[in-house]
Amino acid sequence: MKLFSILFLPVFASVVAFAQQTLQSLADAELPSLLTIYKDVHSHPELSAHEERTAALVAKELRAAGCEVTEHFGSYDDPKLKAYGVIGVMKNGDGPTVLVRTDADALPVEEETGLPYASKVVVKNDDGRDVHVMHACGHDTHIAAFIGTARSLGKLKDQWHGTIVFVAQPAEEIGTGARALLKDGLYDRLGKPNFALGFHDKADIPAGHIGVTEGYTSANVDFVDVTVRGIGGHGAYPHKIKDPIVLAAEIINTWQTIVSRENNPLDPVVLTVGSIHGGTKHNVIPDEVKMQLTVRTYKSKVRERVLADIDRIAKGCAAAAGMPAELAPIVSVPKDPSTIAAYNNPELTKRLVAIWKKSLGDENVEMVDPTMGGDDFSEYSLPDHSIPAVYFHFGAVDPAKIEEFKKAGKELPTLHSSKFAPVPEPTIRTGVIGMTTAVLDLMKK
Ligand SMILES: [Zn+2]
Ligand SMILES: [Zn+2]
Repeated sequence: MKLFSILFLPVFASVVAFAQQTLQSLADAELPSLLTIYKDVHSHPELSAHEERTAALVAKELRAAGCEVTEHFGSYDDPKLKAYGVIGVMKNGDGPTVLVRTDADALPVEEETGLPYASKVVVKNDDGRDVHVMHACGHDTHIAAFIGTARSLGKLKDQWHGTIVFVAQPAEEIGTGARALLKDGLYDRLGKPNFALGFHDKADIPAGHIGVTEGYTSANVDFVDVTVRGIGGHGAYPHKIKDPIVLAAEIINTWQTIVSRENNPLDPVVLTVGSIHGGTKHNVIPDEVKMQLTVRTYKSKVRERVLADIDRIAKGCAAAAGMPAELAPIVSVPKDPSTIAAYNNPELTKRLVAIWKKSLGDENVEMVDPTMGGDDFSEYSLPDHSIPAVYFHFGAVDPAKIEEFKKAGKELPTLHSSKFAPVPEPTIRTGVIGMTTAVLDLMKK
């Protein structure tokens, strides 16, 4: 009997060791390969709606992880654009369906990080201009963590059941990618998921941390184009013309009262006039002034009211200036690239926070403030938020660097900065663990 025990001890021990093979060690084992993928994607960034190489790489990796993969998923409103969406379906019997999303595109930014794997890519943009390209928003960290998540879940099939839909989405930065996937029948062809999960690196919390917000986490984003019309003429004869420049100035100032006087201060609103162009010369009063605005809100009712207020005030100021009705300002809100606010289902957020605290430690999970930034991850939850969704952050900054900048009273490089350089290993590792533990909890046997 004793001999039997001794003989079988090593086998027994290895079974226990296998059973204890934690997600942490799985993630650690994958890290060198994920780092190679990260550096490859980082040095080969692609602009929104041009993610051809990145999509092929993700498709290959999802197949290797055990997914059925569909490439070239998506249909943009602009027929000239090719969609490079990649959908990987991992099936494991009956059970819930969970959507896991990464984005894949980069930005027209010239990288100034000085990293050995920094991007040197220059391409022609859609207007035919040469632009540098950089993963300045860290979507390359998302791709690496997304692939790590697919690999981990492929190896942990004994711990979950159901269907995971891995979505590698193009064109997040221009706000059209998620809609293009839904328009191509993402939910009609694959069914609506029970839950949707997305993540984003964060440029102001330490690598190793997860940050999340309950409720609204990012804003409705609308772009508004305004043409203020006047009756141009000689700068020396203002009494014979209608000056659109003075009128535009009046309109801009009055718009500020939408936020300060017409809005409930407990409902956040941002109204920024980012561009104004009018005129050609000192002494010529032009016929028109063109403006471009970005408007940020959370609640859809607030969004509708603010957009209506912008129109009403522009037209009201023009009437007050004596502009004839047929020359009233033209206010338009293009559908692209508007984005709806992302709403983290409070119940689901609480559930995941508890899971992350267990897997990463209480001190590594923080509740963070929502932002007035936008992310079209919101589309997967549908406008009525009927699909419970959580969009969480993983820290991307070396804690020592955060301290160094704090001491010097300086701001860290933000997302979209040419100097944004995530510290890859702990950033990707936390992304893998955060997403995988969330999926495992929602799909556990
Ligand atoms: Zn971005
Ligand atoms: Zn981003």
